[in-house]
Parts: sequence; C-alpha cells; structure tokens
Amino acid sequence: MKVGLFPGSFDPFHNGHLEIVERASRLFDEVVVAALRNPQKSAPLFDLEEREAMLEEVVAHLPSVRIVSVSTLLVNVARDVGASAIVRGLRAVSDFETEMQMAQMNNHLSGVETIFIPTSSKYSFVASKLVREVARFGGDVSAFVPPVVAKHLVAKYEQGGDDE
Ligand code: ADP
Repeated sequence: MKVGLFPGSFDPFHNGHLEIVERASRLFDEVVVAALRNPQKSAPLFDLEEREAMLEEVVAHLPSVRIVSVSTLLVNVARDVGASAIVRGLRAVSDFETEMQMAQMNNHLSGVETIFIPTSSKYSFVASKLVREVARFGGDVSAFVPPVVAKHLVAKYEQGGDDE
C-alpha cells in the first residue's frame, strides 16, 4: 500500500493545503496529514489539538485521508506511518530552497523520498501567516479557508487570540 505523508504546521489549514491533500489522495492509497509543532515558528495561534480537530472535519469527505498530530522528527513519523514518500506543496521558487534542503536532510536521515506538488495559481499566494493577518483585523478569509476554519478564526480573534 502506498502511503503519502503530508506534514505541516497548518496554523491554520487553508485551501492551498486542501488542494494538495486532494491531489495527493489521487496518487496514494492513503494520505496521512501530520500537524506538526514547528519549534522554528513563534507560538501557534491554534494548539495541536485544535488543529487536529479542524483537520478531521475538513478532510471528512476524503476516505483515504487520516490525520495525526505529532511533535517529533518528521522521519520518525514517516517510519511510524510506513510512508512511501513525504508530500510537500510548492507555491513559488522562494519555497524551493528550504524545501530542497529539508528533502535532502530527510532522505539522508532515513532514505525517505519527497515529492513536490506545485500549487495551482489560484492558491499560490495563500499562506497561513497571511490568513491569520487578514482574520486578525476582521477581514473576510472565507475564500481562502474551509468554512470550519473560518469559524474558528473568528472565534479565536474574538477571544483575543494572538500568535505573536
Ligand atoms: P510548514 O510549517 O511545514 O511550512 P505550512 O503549514 O506552512 O507548514 O505548509 C505545509 C505544506 O503546505 C508545505 O509543503 C507548504 O509548501 C505547503 N503549502 C503552503 N501553502 C500552500 C499553498 N498555498 N499551495 C500549496 N501548498 C502550500
């Protein structure tokens, strides 16, 4: 069975991510979406449990997709889920350098391959950080995120949520 592992911070998960999951699910028998704690990023807006719960709802229509949330090295997750490959989305050339470095490091550590799926131009400008910025100041993010995520963003900022 071919298993694709799509890891990310997903803080929050947006339509660009969803497009990659949907396309990956046509390439693999199973896609495992892993919400990760990224120690290089500032304190997340949504904690891992919140991100996992939102992800479960967002991919409910995709039977071959399952969610895990983890705070360990990605190659350990790849081993644990029996991943055939790590899947990453590419928005622009600017993503390429760090993605290439991570792919090479992961391959060096465990032999796991990484495949890149280029985003459609429709979503190439969508990034979690920008979505948070728009939502923080009350802007409409409904074109960029699934409805459940939009709802949680509004609730989070109403509670005075802050990710800085
Ligand atoms: P990370 O903390 O790993 O950068 P992100 O949540 O920002 O996590 O992204 C997870 C994956 O989704 C990465 O492979 C990233 O390149 C990809 N991605 C992010 N935004 C988009 C988008 N708009 N279209 C396609 N892929 C995207």
